[in-house]
Amino acid sequence: MHANLPVSRSERAAGRLHACSGTSEKYRMKKKRIIFPEKLKLWIDARSRYKLNHAQIEMARELGMDPNKFEGIAAYILEHGNKPLAAFIEDSYRERFGKNEPEDRRSIEQKLKAEDAHQQQKRTLKAQTKANAKWDALPQSVRDTILATVWCSQCMKTTTLAEPEYQLINDGLIVNGKCTACGGTVGRYLEGE
Ligand SMILES: [Zn+2]
Repeated sequence: MHANLPVSRSERAAGRLHACSGTSEKYRMKKKRIIFPEKLKLWIDARSRYKLNHAQIEMARELGMDPNKFEGIAAYILEHGNKPLAAFIEDSYRERFGKNEPEDRRSIEQKLKAEDAHQQQKRTLKAQTKANAKWDALPQSVRDTILATVWCSQCMKTTTLAEPEYQLINDGLIVNGKCTACGGTVGRYLEGE
């Protein structure tokens, strides 16, 4: 059973694209794991070793402290001021910034995750804009033909694709949408040359 109908020669010439069998499923992107930069690992390590909370870690970072030197600092202040590292950080922060707590009380992990999600969102938006532009660059007649000649595996016939969404895969373009007859998911893969 063909998942896609072949594109006519004019379509191919006009768009430099040709249809290819296969579903969009295999082009699904793998979920990315967040990688912790070395510097942040040092802070996470220091947090557990000196039993500091997220706010105290943020304070230490804002104070410009070096987690590599915590051992020396901890020993020094314990000896001279008789207080633990956590209290030293809080006191220094209050002295320097005139407040008890930082604005941002999120953990390093939360911040990194949020930043990663933000970057991912930006990438997705950029890719979406590129995909839309690629589709828009095709002549209107070619676009109309592609949308009007989609194979629906549920209807078992050629139907029209509604609510199209475009996605770039390498040089190709995936058009996904709904079958106007049954509402099922239909798609076309237009391979770049
Ligand atoms: Zn259908």
